[in-house]
Amino acid sequence: MAETKKVDLWHGIPRESIPWYPTVDEKKCIGCGLCFVTCGRNVYEIIDKKAKVVHPFNCLVGCSTCATVCPVGAISFPDKDMIQKIEREYAILKVVSTEKTKKGAKLALEKARENANKLLSQATHFADYTVAGDIIEKNILQKIEELSQKLNFDVVNVTIETPLFKFNEKVPSLMKFRVVSRSYEDISHAIDELDELFKDNGIVVIEKVKS
Ligand code: SF4
Repeated sequence: MAETKKVDLWHGIPRESIPWYPTVDEKKCIGCGLCFVTCGRNVYEIIDKKAKVVHPFNCLVGCSTCATVCPVGAISFPDKDMIQKIEREYAILKVVSTEKTKKGAKLALEKARENANKLLSQATHFADYTVAGDIIEKNILQKIEELSQKLNFDVVNVTIETPLFKFNEKVPSLMKFRVVSRSYEDISHAIDELDELFKDNGIVVIEKVKS
């Protein structure tokens, strides 16, 4: 079977359709190697004491750092208007909008993880729970959140495993989480109330490790 070649894309546009890469004026080049060591994408090699563009399409679209740092002005790039023209032709903003949403979600997750790690490093008392039951249908997460606000504790490292999800159908899930005290005090009161909440909602506590 013939191998399919992976096409490099720049925001949905085949990279090789964008003629953005450096050109070196050999007469001016003194072979200092600054472009070669500055470029993190292996666009250049130094051959016969001159900079050569060996992988033009490795060049990051819009980047012209090598031209900026070249001490003798031997490097040139196409006009930046060319990029804007291509962006319009390919209606790139639709793709960018999706990418922006994904990046925003990833950043929000990283921030939440950072906050959770901060809480974990400060907490002296915590309890690890593993529970199972109709977590989603019974809004267990929301109920825990309400309790956490009332009793001043936090819930971190939450994972929910649902083997099969169907709307309007009861599906048992497995949930793991850690309870930590926001005020770094004993969390027995929170644990008692959580146990009560699970009991009232038919959620089974499979494991509870308190520290
Ligand atoms: Fe040549 Fe300029 Fe690259 Fe130095 S930085 S090797 S002078 S192109």
